[in-house]
Amino acid sequence: MKNIAVLGSTGSIGTQTLDIIARHPDRYRATVLAAGTRVDQLIEQARLFRPDLAIIARPELHAELDAALRPLGIATATGPDAMAQAVTGSNVDMVLTATVGYSGLAPTVAAIKAGKDIALANKETMVVAGSYITRLLASSPTRIFPVDSEHSAIYQCLQGEDPSTVKRLIITASGGPFRTWPASKIKTARAADALKHPNWNMGAKITIDSATMINKAFEIIEARWLFGIDPQRISALVHPQSIVHSMVEFHDGAIKAQMGVPEMTLPIAYALGEASRTTDVAPFCDLLVSNQLTFEEPDTNRFPGLTLAHTALETGGNSACTINAANEIAVAAFLRDRIGFNDIYTTIQRTLARTPYIAEPDYDDFVATNSEARLIAEDIVKNINS
Ligand code: MG
Repeated sequence: MKNIAVLGSTGSIGTQTLDIIARHPDRYRATVLAAGTRVDQLIEQARLFRPDLAIIARPELHAELDAALRPLGIATATGPDAMAQAVTGSNVDMVLTATVGYSGLAPTVAAIKAGKDIALANKETMVVAGSYITRLLASSPTRIFPVDSEHSAIYQCLQGEDPSTVKRLIITASGGPFRTWPASKIKTARAADALKHPNWNMGAKITIDSATMINKAFEIIEARWLFGIDPQRISALVHPQSIVHSMVEFHDGAIKAQMGVPEMTLPIAYALGEASRTTDVAPFCDLLVSNQLTFEEPDTNRFPGLTLAHTALETGGNSACTINAANEIAVAAFLRDRIGFNDIYTTIQRTLARTPYIAEPDYDDFVATNSEARLIAEDIVKNINS
């Protein structure tokens, strides 16, 4: 029986993780559930899964949570340190990190320091602090199992292979909802257009990141740290059908691909099972239905967000932390129709130019950079609009 802390339990990945836990009660138990703001849904989940602890990030919602769960003997908590504290408990074997954005960093660091295994769904943690996390992992028994579908695919392709024979990682991208739009039309795109993802059903933030292809830039950064590979040997390829989830090319010319329907339940179950296969997790893939698998070069003129991966990795230091913070502010503003689609990229560039560079950041530097870059990005967003 594996005890799992599900961070971000009411989001898209969180609810699908709980579905898998519910279907395999002999293997998994959710001992901690943590959500941001959806207190009603969290109460519902806690009634069903009976965790030891339920956490709501927003302090003003805590009283409501506690009133509902205390009679059931379920402890509750709130505040910025609650998740980081909860993941270190003896009732946690694995931490599934599926919160949105920067919020994943503190609990991930705490989990590594406590030696807990991690099912990593929050890619921003590796984007913001990849070199720091890699250093922490070197002196910790923690194993990281990627949940991001592309990284899960690469992880699966690498099973049984000698890492020194890897030539290149090929990360596939659906191309998002604007793949076929001309630049003149992309400029006018609104949040409602960007939220219509062709293949994947995901949360709002990652869906916008997918439309700008900043999600793909983040995945290149994530892959660089997860697999310890030189960024020049990681490429992105647009694959509109989202059946090939990513590929690894080897020195002998072989390319291994992992395929399946675009459903997150498969990579989630593969991570929960510590890179083993579980029955009854995803629909089977009918290759006669999706009988055309095509690939195209990503267009960095229409989607400059993709180039941020190499900007961040070449610049190093706290630059990816700055890019992530600016992106979070810009995406939130775009979702409220306060800025245009291309302004997301502009906001990131301008924030990067104004935020002080730190060559070798430690944990406190990431916290400070995140706060400072957010303020700068807020100011830039305000002035774009005026
Ligand atoms: Mg992905």
